[in-house]
Amino acid sequence: MPVIIGALRESAPHETRVSLVPEVADRFAQTGARVLIEHGAGLQANFPDSLYKKAEWADSGSAVLSSADVVLTVQPLTLDQIQQLKSGAVVIGFMQPHARKAEVKALRDRRITSFAMELVPRISRAQSMDALSSQAAIAGYKAVLIAANHLPKFFPMLTTAAGTIRPSMVLVIGAGVAGLQAIATARRLGAVVEAYDVRSATKEQVKSLGAKFVDTGVSAEGAGGYARELTAEEKAKQQEVLDSRIAAADAVVTTASVPGRPAPKIISRSAVERMRPGSVVVDIAAEQGGNCELTRAGEVIDHNGVRIVGALNLPAQLAYNASEMYARNLLNFLKPAIDKGELKIDWSDEVFAQSCLTHEGVVKHEPTLKSLEST
Ligand code: NAD
Repeated sequence: MPVIIGALRESAPHETRVSLVPEVADRFAQTGARVLIEHGAGLQANFPDSLYKKAEWADSGSAVLSSADVVLTVQPLTLDQIQQLKSGAVVIGFMQPHARKAEVKALRDRRITSFAMELVPRISRAQSMDALSSQAAIAGYKAVLIAANHLPKFFPMLTTAAGTIRPSMVLVIGAGVAGLQAIATARRLGAVVEAYDVRSATKEQVKSLGAKFVDTGVSAEGAGGYARELTAEEKAKQQEVLDSRIAAADAVVTTASVPGRPAPKIISRSAVERMRPGSVVVDIAAEQGGNCELTRAGEVIDHNGVRIVGALNLPAQLAYNASEMYARNLLNFLKPAIDKGELKIDWSDEVFAQSCLTHEGVVKHEPTLKSLEST
């Protein structure tokens, strides 16, 4: 029997992305799988139903959930949706395992096999499946456009008949995937860019994009290419240097995060108070608590003339490309498990093994299991 791959109209507030775009739905159909999509699933991302040539249609999300063998999602399923899944179903999508404990328990208890896109190992072979990276790049790009929109200044230097306009100074904090794209975007718009990351390995990448690296003398290389948490002393030293660069910036884009932990607080109230009126902070880490002390998730606040944007789900603001990239990540992840239209997961493959969140009534991801046990 061919596997039925389902996609839903996302129901989370402000979620405009779709897990299956027409090109990817066709490619799944070419593997011999059946593709079942809820009517209107791609509409908000500008993929009307008519563009999906090889899909079958369901009138409701419930109909997809109760028929599909594999459900592809962007946001985690709700508790109610998990209850509607067919027994033995597989779910693949962002699962937010640290935040969505009740949903993880429900997936476990319903013996659903779930794969979290956040957990795909960051090895070379899995780069084409790396949804954290594809979506972070979009967030970095969009954050700079938001900063430019709020700023009462040009980004580039302009030489005009009315005199010369100085370029804006943009500071990017956190030079991971989002930060590097933010740097590249701000540079393309002509700003002078400085960037900072606790991982000194980012120094060369920052420089290669034409930005200046802010050297605070603190390095925090952690396991797996991620940052570790800093000690109090390191934080104070980092802060001193950073505060002066924040004060000098017209726009600050912050992207710093430590996996599974609240976002590090890097911009204090007093640092904001040293910024010039009209300056802007765009905080991509708002969802994890924010890098700025004053950030309010989902809001734009004005503090003595400095705007602080608590950006939420930026990829959803670029839903067409974000969906395209995410759907391709899902295709690259799942396709190796489809053999002549049938689902055959190779558990000896580290990509499946490491990204598995729940399987056969067990939480497979150790850190999530520990955090469930401690609550
Ligand atoms: P992330 O979103 O977890 O964090 C963003 C950035 O914030 C990171 O660069 C981190 O070092 C930085 N940061 C954390 N605490 C900070 C602090 N207190 N001050 C300043 N900066 C701070 O990271 P990400 O962008 O998802 O990825 C991080 C790195 O992982 C990449 O840059 C890369 O080296 C590696 N990576 C590898 C692969 C791969 O090999 N396939 C794919 C993607 C990323």
